[in-house]
Amino acid sequence: MGDDADEDLHRSSASTLGAALGVATSGLFRKAADFVYPPVCAGCGIRIGRHGALCPSCWNSVKFIERPFCDVLGIPFAFDHEAGLAGEGGRLVSAKAIAEPPRYDRLRAVAIHEGVARRLVHGLKYRDRTDLAVMMAMWMQRAGGEHLVECDGILPVPLHWTRFALRKFNQSAELARHLAKLSGRPLLPSTLKRVKRTSRQVGLTAKRRQDNVRAAFSIAHGHEADVFGKRLVLVDDVHTTGATVSSAAAVLKRAGAAEVTVLTFALAISAPI
Ligand SMILES: [Zn+2]
Repeated sequence: MGDDADEDLHRSSASTLGAALGVATSGLFRKAADFVYPPVCAGCGIRIGRHGALCPSCWNSVKFIERPFCDVLGIPFAFDHEAGLAGEGGRLVSAKAIAEPPRYDRLRAVAIHEGVARRLVHGLKYRDRTDLAVMMAMWMQRAGGEHLVECDGILPVPLHWTRFALRKFNQSAELARHLAKLSGRPLLPSTLKRVKRTSRQVGLTAKRRQDNVRAAFSIAHGHEADVFGKRLVLVDDVHTTGATVSSAAAVLKRAGAAEVTVLTFALAISAPI
């Protein structure tokens, strides 16, 4: 009960803040909004100069994923203990990607899922910090690069409707919406459907996660043309074992998607990979 009230408070303050930021285009409104909600670092909460940013110390602590990384799995080679670089048409592909090719064509992520990056994902997921979504989507736009620019559509990983009804918020949809706005590419919010309510993934083994999400998705009736022959970007907040996006990507591929790029904010690296 207390938790619910707490969550409601978070939700209402977040949406009020969102509304305040939405109108904060003129200096006057901005000053008023800053007075009520002074800009704070999205990582640690200290006062900073503008909304939707990190303080220098949090910024420096984020492990941004930079090249060289595996062209398929998106994992930086610094984390690849097997260091199995393989040239394939000029691309760098890890031994793991060759041994176990994923259902998607490639994954791109902004940062390693730890520290501040992990707190941002958590803040967006559990506290409905919609103000964080804009900042996170801007970073994801950069990570998506040409695959986002050239795509035919952007799809969020959907929640099952019962979970959505409970939470009233899908962090992946929020990120996808901002990515569509930033890139000017079409948003396909209802093309992919979650048909099976899955158990929470937290605490499950990789095998149980795969079983959990098997046949969890389908293409919404009448939306087949959104997928067939199209280059798609599938958006999620974090990639952990990959069971969820693999299941969703498999459905898109079976429906004739020409290309599926998975774009996430954070990427969990389990060592050794
Ligand atoms: Zn900070």
